[in-house]
Amino acid sequence: MTDHDLPGALGPSTRAVHAGLPAPAQGEPFLPGPVFASPYHLQGPVDASRFVYQRYGNPTWDRLEAALGELEGGEAVVFASGMAAVSAVVLPLRAGDVLVAPSDGYPGVRAIAREQLEPRGVEVRLVPTDDAAVRAALPGATMVWLESPSNPGLDVVDVAALAGEARAGGAAVVVDNTLAGPLRQRPLDLGADLSVTSASKHLSGHSDLVLGYVAVRDRARADALRAWRGTTGGIPGPFEAWLAHRSLATVAVRLERQEANAAALTGLLGARDDVTDVRWPGVGSVVCFTVQSAGRAQAFLAATRLVAEATSFGGLHSSAERRGRWGTDAVAEGFIRFSTGIEDTADLLTDVAGALDATR
Ligand code: PLP
Repeated sequence: MTDHDLPGALGPSTRAVHAGLPAPAQGEPFLPGPVFASPYHLQGPVDASRFVYQRYGNPTWDRLEAALGELEGGEAVVFASGMAAVSAVVLPLRAGDVLVAPSDGYPGVRAIAREQLEPRGVEVRLVPTDDAAVRAALPGATMVWLESPSNPGLDVVDVAALAGEARAGGAAVVVDNTLAGPLRQRPLDLGADLSVTSASKHLSGHSDLVLGYVAVRDRARADALRAWRGTTGGIPGPFEAWLAHRSLATVAVRLERQEANAAALTGLLGARDDVTDVRWPGVGSVVCFTVQSAGRAQAFLAATRLVAEATSFGGLHSSAERRGRWGTDAVAEGFIRFSTGIEDTADLLTDVAGALDATR
């Protein structure tokens, strides 16, 4: 927990600015810099309450974890990447466990399920991000993995209702909350046991690091995740953790502008007759749409001036990609996943409209 003594009900910007900062101390910085260490001084018997070796702990992670825990309403454990966080949750599954996971979400969890879990005797049920489909797969499940909104389809499920049903049946409920993030959706409040997020996206937001975390409600799960991290070694670098914490202070204002741009882009695209299947879930920076062919999609991407052709999303520079180029998602050839940045709305719309007109 933070040492910072703050009043109770605070708005999201206030929480993001102050989260995880130490108590004010004369002559000290607001956010102390990263601590770089492999071993720490350790004289005599091992004292597990102190820092001993970086794979087991680092004060820079602790501050970031305090910040993320505050935003999530639980306890956070940071990892080297979103996928290291995903792995820490699903790899401990054992033969006889039954995992329900999205067939249409980020391919990472599916790849782990196929390559690591199924060969070891875990039953994997892949279902689309749809309430009825998830509900039908619940009987006998030991872990239910939801991704809502899903990436890249941006479909949503009723997390609270499904979490309640899944937990009543004895399953642990996990939500990959990367798209919405803790300022827009708090899975633990909705009944999930674990909330998993890639902080490589809008939470850090500057397209300069890869990081992930798991947030949980109970101390025992947090301890188990820390033990897993210490044993398997998927630890974040202190500099990445510090950069993420520094960037977290601006997440609310970045997100507001990104969402204003996403709403405006959705309006522009919806009014055109050369674009179909425009999707935006009302939160986050990701807008998806489809043009008639892979060729048109690539020509559009090449014709924009302000939009970087790149994978990932959530950064303060607008970016987009033809998602089908990876071959991992069931999307149309002309499907574009677009992430709005914090550019001025009018400039972004002019750029996108111009590129669409030029490639019509
Ligand atoms: N979950 C979702 C929904 C994602 O979009 C991603 C990355 O794109 C991940 C997990 C994996 O995160 P990372 O790239 O930080 O390992």
